[in-house]
Amino acid sequence: MNKQRTIFFAWVQVGGVIDPGVAAPYIAAMALRNIIKLPDPRLRLVSAPVRAVDDGVRRLVEDMFETMYDAPGIGLAAIQVVVPQRVVTLDLAKKDEPKNPRVFINPEIIWRSEQKDVHEEGCLSIPEYYEEVERPAKVKVRFLDLDGKPQEIEAEGILATCLQHEIDHTNGVLFIDYLSKLKRNMVIKRFTKAARREAEEQAADKA
Ligand SMILES: [Zn+2]
Repeated sequence: MNKQRTIFFAWVQVGGVIDPGVAAPYIAAMALRNIIKLPDPRLRLVSAPVRAVDDGVRRLVEDMFETMYDAPGIGLAAIQVVVPQRVVTLDLAKKDEPKNPRVFINPEIIWRSEQKDVHEEGCLSIPEYYEEVERPAKVKVRFLDLDGKPQEIEAEGILATCLQHEIDHTNGVLFIDYLSKLKRNMVIKRFTKAARREAEEQAADKA
């Protein structure tokens, strides 16, 4: 089934009632956004706080989920789709589990455990590169939900790692910053070469 038809036939449940009239244009309005990759300098921007959780922010969140699921990935920060705002989407559900989309607006780490944990991390902006990173094992995060209400969670395990990884993005920090200088320089070099090659190919296609 092609994308057009998927969108056309996709119905969402609105308030317990299947309403294709409302759902169809809503879904059609969602859009895949382009994920920027290393060494794009915009990944180093410090994102601005969201001032008000309005329809614009909710649309951005919808697009981020669509983009994240399509990639596919488990976490995305708005700066990765070139929106320098402090917005993070996550879904840590396994393949056989129902989707569990979570949104963190203006997320802020308010407590970190002394205890550390090591997880292998990857990043949609550094595709197919994985390394172990040590971070605090538990964190407490304050954030706004999609209604603009303040919330707090205490996270551990993979959720704690993902939250720290994504909050780092809102501050222009990448997981490769925790690696040795040698490893970091190697991966930056690799992705810089790949970007150059891609640009050359695009230029050749146009010629
Ligand atoms: Zn990332």
